[in-house]
Order: sequence, then C-alpha cells, then structure tokens
Amino acid sequence: MLRGAYGPYRANNDLLYYHLDIRVDPDQKSLSGRNTIRFRMLRDGNRIQIDLQDPLNVDKILLGTTPLKYERDSGAVFVNFPETLRAGHTYSIDFYYSGHPQETGRFGGITFKKDPAGRDWINTACEGIGASIWWPNKDQWRDEVEDMDISVAIPNGLTDVSNGHFVGKTDLGDGYTRWDWHVSYPINNYDVSLNIGNYAHFSDKLGDLSLDFYALPEDLDKAKTQFAQARGMIEAYQHYFGPYPWAKDGYKLIEAPYSGMEHQSAVTYGNLFENGYLGRDWTGVGISPRFDFIIIHESGHEWFGNSVTAADPSDMWIHEGWTTYLESLYVEYRWGKSDAIRYLNGYKPKIFNKRPIVGERGVNAEPPEDQYFKGALMLNTLRSVLNDDARWFALIHDLYQHFKYQNILTEDIVAYCNQRTGMNLTPIFNQYLRHAEIPRLELLFGEAPGSVMYKWRADEDDFAMPIRVGTPDHWQIIHPTTHWQTMQSSLSKDDFQVDTDHYYIDVNKQ
Ligand SMILES: [Zn+2]
Repeated sequence: MLRGAYGPYRANNDLLYYHLDIRVDPDQKSLSGRNTIRFRMLRDGNRIQIDLQDPLNVDKILLGTTPLKYERDSGAVFVNFPETLRAGHTYSIDFYYSGHPQETGRFGGITFKKDPAGRDWINTACEGIGASIWWPNKDQWRDEVEDMDISVAIPNGLTDVSNGHFVGKTDLGDGYTRWDWHVSYPINNYDVSLNIGNYAHFSDKLGDLSLDFYALPEDLDKAKTQFAQARGMIEAYQHYFGPYPWAKDGYKLIEAPYSGMEHQSAVTYGNLFENGYLGRDWTGVGISPRFDFIIIHESGHEWFGNSVTAADPSDMWIHEGWTTYLESLYVEYRWGKSDAIRYLNGYKPKIFNKRPIVGERGVNAEPPEDQYFKGALMLNTLRSVLNDDARWFALIHDLYQHFKYQNILTEDIVAYCNQRTGMNLTPIFNQYLRHAEIPRLELLFGEAPGSVMYKWRADEDDFAMPIRVGTPDHWQIIHPTTHWQTMQSSLSKDDFQVDTDHYYIDVNKQ
C-alpha cells in the first residue's frame, strides 16, 4: 500500500530533479552511490516518502551537510527533517545507498548477465516491480522530475547507454570510467535505465533528430539492417501525432537480453533481429511479419506512456491500449486502412473480457492484458462512432498534443473527447474500460414482416452507440440504446450483417 498509495508524505512535495550518480561493480553484482533529489514543498511538513527496496542499504541521507533521520517500512523510506520544510520552498537531499539488488519480475528488474561472448551485460527493466528495486526515488507514477542527470561509473572498456543525450565520459583513474547522460524532459522512474555492455555504436539522422543505435559487435550487421525500421516508425507516428517528444535527447535503440522495453529516448530491443514478435506472426493475419514488433510497439510508447503518462498504474491502458492502437496506425501509414483493420482484428483472440481494464487506484496493481488489445479495439470502435476519419485523426492528434508531457487519468481522456466531439462518449468508454464484458447488439427477427428489433445489452444503463448494419456494400447506421427499437429491413436473419470489423462488439440474432 505504501508503494501504490499517493500518501501524505508523497503528496506534500513536487519532484523537480534527480541526479543519479552511481558506481556499478559487475563482479560483485553491486551498486553504490547516491541520488540527489530536488523537490518543492507543496505544504509545510517535516517528512517525505522516498522508496528503496530491500536488500539495498540506506547509507546516509543528507540535507546539505546535515544527516537526516529516516525510518524504513517495507519499500518506503520516510525521511524526517529536523525543522519544518516550508510550502513553496525548494529543497535538495542526497540519498546515499549501496548493496546487491535482487533480480525479480518479468525482465529481472536489474540483471547482471554475460553476453553470448562472455562479457559483462547489465540491464534494467523495472516497470512492474518499480525503479526502487535498484535506485532510491519517489517510486510512483503521478509525479515526475522536470529533468535528470544520470552518471554511471563502470569498468573501463564497457559502455553505459542511459536515457537522454550523452554528455561525456571521464576516466576516473581507478579502472573505472564515468558515463554522463542528461535527460532534458520529465521522465517516469521506471524508464530510467542502465544498459552496460560491450556495445558497438552507429548513428543516423532524421531531419534534426539524432538516431543512435547500440548492439553487441557480433550483431552489428543484423542491427544495421533491422534498426533501419526506426526511421519509418518515427515518420509514421510524427505524421499522426506531431514531433517525436524528446528532440533534445535524441532517439536510441539498444540491444538488451530481454524482448524489449520503452525506456524513454533509449528503447531496448531483444527481438532476434527478425520481423514479427519473437519470430511469430503476432496477430496471425500475415501483417505482423512485415515489421519488427518491438521497434514499432516499444517506440510508440514515446508518445503514449512516456510523453502522455498514466498517473496511476490502474489507468495503464493509456500506455498499452494506445500504443497497441499505434501499431495499427503504423500499418495504416505504410499499407493502408484495410490492412490496419485486419491487423487490429487479429488481436481479438487474445482478449478475455474477464476483468475490467481500469483497475483499482492507489494499490500499484497492473491491469489485465486486455488493456492492450481490447484497449486498441475500443479506440478503433470510437473511430467508427465518429464515422469521419478526418475528424478522428484531428481528435487523436490534438488529444496527444493537449496531454503531452503530462500524467493523466482515464477521466481526462474521456472529458477531452466529449468536449472535442460534442458527444457523450462516457458510457462507451465506461463499458469498455470499467466492465468486463463488451456491448452486445441484440437483434430480434420475425416479430413483424420486414422488420428487425434491436437494442444494446450493456452494463452501462445509458449505453448508446451507433452501429453499421445491413450488408457491406450497403451499410446503414442505426442508433441503438438499451431499449428496443424497430427498423424496416428486407434482409433475412442470415443476410442481415453487423460491421464487427469496425466495432468491437458481440451480436446476438434471434
Ligand atoms: Zn507496451
């Protein structure tokens, strides 16, 4: 609960800046160093909550030269100040820590591995478990620093690729070299990353944007071929949403020993240098093998996930539903709308409809996997509800521009869409996001000759959504509600179709 809740000792301050300055020892599999944390107090107080998970040690916490007292409670570290910190004032503490972080979670959180040639390969990927698995920070999603410095001392000969732009490296004279990176934008904690290895580097430019690529030397040729997809990916997403969000930091793609992760401006890649996802046709309709799923998906998070960020993991569909939808926009940009729709509908077999997509707030729980595929199909459904592609593309472009660099909740997106369209889309969003089941169109034939009765069965009482029915060469839009209505149709029960490719719904004909 301390991890998930935005409690009083988190809410009383606003993060401004981190300088994470650490030394990484590959042989000992250990870290040591400090995070300088600058924050502005929003209320008077003498205590704040920072997080650092066991088994890492708190060595000392300083305000200037004054050591501060602290109490650890599970992953939380409550830092106590001898005098009241004043609202509106800015303070800075140096949080020193050390130890052997524990490998845990889907991608290990932080792993001390060897590459296939036996050289050190150390990587972080900690979205679920939290960044406090390897460094001290205010480990939540609501508040982000405005900018950040990352300094990583590692044995000479290795390279560290972190987030932001490369500032320089300094030989420390003791067998270690410090690599300095500067992040010029807000960044969520779990995006902060280490990628330490024997990397080979090559680069490219897309207009003024620098593109930097890092791969193990044995994979360099494959990387030069596969990573070329980054250009077309950025062009496609810029077409729909506007400029790449981190111009000053550049775009980096870095080989890593797991499938991939959207680390801000430093996307990690482990998709075998093959198209599809880990060698598979990911949506099973022959389109996924045309592109590298990890490059297209993880980089899409630069727009939705990293720039537009959910303020609580409960609303993580803002990252995953949108980015899955972005995959289809990439397909549409390259190969047209009908392939994009086929690609999206290929996701249907992966959807369970067992639990709502938006989960409980303040408990640091990841929503079910439906947030990806059902989230994307919901957005495709909304496109059909608008029934005007020019309006739809203007809406999602402007929505991104409105919320970029912000941490938001589902309600913010719904309110924006309602205001921009002049429609009440709240029941539609609620049905797809806050209930397990999708709407079902009930059709009743043969009550009267040449007529069909129709209504929605939905959990939302005021659910109302237009839908295309009839035949594909002659669709007709009807406006069902949760109450029966009647339409005239000469089509038989078997010939009467519903456009389930463009609306993600169930249909029940009787
Ligand atoms: Zn994702």
